[in-house]
Amino acid sequence: MDLTQSVNDYSEIVENDREFIWHHLSQHKKYETQDPLIIIEGKGLRVWNQAGREHLDAVSGGVWTVNVGYGRETIADAVRDQLVKMNYFAGSAGSIPGATFANQLISKMPGMSRVYYSNSGSEANEKAYKIVRQISHNKHGGKKSKILYRERDYHGTTITALSSCGQGERRDQYGPFTPGFVEVPHCLEYRSQWGDIEDYGIKAANAIEEVILREGADTVGGLILEPITAGGGVIEPPKGYWDRVQEICAKYDILLIIDEVVCGMGRTGTWFGYQHYGVKPDMVTMAKGVASGYAAISCTVTTEAVFNEFKADPDDPMSYFRDISTFGGCAAGPAAALENMRILEDENLLENTVTIGEYLMEKLHGLKAKHQIIGDVRGKGLFCGAELVSDRESKMPVDESIAQAVVADCFANNAVIIGMTNRSLRGMNNTLCLSPALISTKSDMDEVIDAIDGALTRVVAQ
Ligand code: PMP
Repeated sequence: MDLTQSVNDYSEIVENDREFIWHHLSQHKKYETQDPLIIIEGKGLRVWNQAGREHLDAVSGGVWTVNVGYGRETIADAVRDQLVKMNYFAGSAGSIPGATFANQLISKMPGMSRVYYSNSGSEANEKAYKIVRQISHNKHGGKKSKILYRERDYHGTTITALSSCGQGERRDQYGPFTPGFVEVPHCLEYRSQWGDIEDYGIKAANAIEEVILREGADTVGGLILEPITAGGGVIEPPKGYWDRVQEICAKYDILLIIDEVVCGMGRTGTWFGYQHYGVKPDMVTMAKGVASGYAAISCTVTTEAVFNEFKADPDDPMSYFRDISTFGGCAAGPAAALENMRILEDENLLENTVTIGEYLMEKLHGLKAKHQIIGDVRGKGLFCGAELVSDRESKMPVDESIAQAVVADCFANNAVIIGMTNRSLRGMNNTLCLSPALISTKSDMDEVIDAIDGALTRVVAQ
């Protein structure tokens, strides 16, 4: 990449940033002594910062988003062409890319039927919650309105999305919360709540049933789950879990919402994470990979049965979904999403995700064999985590500062950007996360593994 501007050319940008920007997820004190990071350009898996330094981005734009990689001119062209033709119309009007993408999306999701557009993962989940609540009002006099969420899962940043957040540190300081959200236990076998891990998947699912019975099944209308928990520590539910969850939802007439905001669009090697497990959701939400960050778009996808609840009585003004998303009417999102999906298919990126994901997992297991500090390695496709512990026997998590030091070392010494759990249980932000773009090659992954290998050696030595 030819970065024609030198360091000094960006000094004004850096100062404007330091002076006027409030960065996400940042303690700003550090910018008194160090420059903020500004990403100037990207191509494939690589990004360049304001100093012209090249980085390998192993987290797809920081938070599992840029699935098809940087610098995709055909997506930019598709968005430009659409914006010039027709950029926006909200309310009940549709658009050409909106209708076309919805058709293609549904073709990848057997059993699902309708697509509702909005523009962030939080919003997509809130739509699903509103659908549960309105069905409860229409059919159950408002009584079946509680929504269950799982410890360690995350569903978004708004107060109601946070009301369904199973990660204490991201949530606790923002109460009071929206009523009617109830937590169920996590399903991380490595940290079994029951000691014995025999039939752990069944036990973890049965724990959901216990919560339902405690709350009263006639008060619970929905259950939201990540197919594989992302920010809470890359947790794949163990064998038996999903079948039992499905049984429980059917038994108590509870709508199952699958949050595919991270796993959707090929990240785990299938179009959607739930498709690994034969799950039949009532609603599926998605955002990040839908347009790989080239435009803001999210979708709440429902079955025809859910959709039909809203047209049961056309004379009743309450029977339609009284919801709107202003920027759900922006045609840039579906235009970008259509081209994003074409790329995923034409470049066989789901197959690549399986192949390279297996290679990456094998390498991570190699690191675990070498470094005692790695207690557990988990993941599927190009979505992996390595949990760091101070002692394998007790599984005591390392202090968050240790995981941070590993991330910082990879960045400083090898220019490789990796992630770590955002906020899970208190003091347990100890899982390194890898989620490179789905175009990754084995040699890219070797570079990432070498960086982590070196970082672990140096950090442990200190
Ligand atoms: N669900 C999951 C699983 C997520 O990881 C996130 C964001 N990290 C969201 C929902 C919220 O998405 P957004 O930030 O676009 O609102």
